[in-house]
Amino acid sequence: MSGKLTGKIALVTGGNSGIGLATAQRFVAEGAYVFITGRRQNDLDAAVKQIGKNVTAVQGDVSNLADIDRLFAAIKQEQGHLDVIFANAGGGEIAPLGSITEEHFDKTFNANVKGLLFTVQKALPLLPEGASIILNASTASTVGTPAFSVYSATKAAVRSFARNWILDLKERKIRVNAISPGVVPTPGYTLLGLSEEQVQEFVNSQAVTIPLGRVGTPDEIAKAVVFLASDDSSFVNGIELFVDGGMAQI
Ligand code: NAD
Repeated sequence: MSGKLTGKIALVTGGNSGIGLATAQRFVAEGAYVFITGRRQNDLDAAVKQIGKNVTAVQGDVSNLADIDRLFAAIKQEQGHLDVIFANAGGGEIAPLGSITEEHFDKTFNANVKGLLFTVQKALPLLPEGASIILNASTASTVGTPAFSVYSATKAAVRSFARNWILDLKERKIRVNAISPGVVPTPGYTLLGLSEEQVQEFVNSQAVTIPLGRVGTPDEIAKAVVFLASDDSSFVNGIELFVDGGMAQI
């Protein structure tokens, strides 16, 4: 074990599933103590079991500001500070222009943009100089996808936050980077409203368009998040790191 995060306190929002869970596992394997959040207590309990040690779960909805306050009160009480934030919680649903409802818009922006913004803002009092913030964007921040415009717009907003917040946090030497996963099958894919067969069809259709010829795994994203969280990326600031097998680069 290399211990790239030994002694660090980290937060992974949406750490009970998919990319967040894989990252929480990597963080702990690298020596960090990790707080994870998610909306469902059952899923959180299962994730805590899977991670095994050095983890605390705090239930909450990231789009609810009172829940975010409760989260940071718990972190403050238990550990006193926070070195790494992976603002990962979020998701999307399919809705072509013409069928977009106010509810769809609010749900997507409230989780992916409002929730992410206030997670970072409310964490600020706990962050020491040199802390690292990683925002989970998506290749959708720069490429178009049919029936996915609202989700994509939220991810473009997330990418923009990284560019701007490195200026707001300049004096404190806090780094902010975005990570943009490509196609990475997770439980989130069935939440899009797709059946298992439709997910498989989608995965197959995407794999042939990816220069590496396959989709990614949550752990491949987690490894890149560890890089951005650790001192290995000490001069990397404000970037969008694509982890997509080359999909958005061609
Ligand atoms: P997932 O569904 O497995 O995990 C999403 C996590 O976010 C879950 O823990 C869920 O509980 C949590 N979450 C969602 N909305 C929340 C809310 N309002 N409050 C609190 N928690 C909330 O999906 P995933 O694929 O691992 O997605 C994680 C992140 O990665 C998302 O931001 C997603 O947009 C992004 N992403 C995923 C892919 C991919 O292909 N899987 C690609 C690009 C970006």
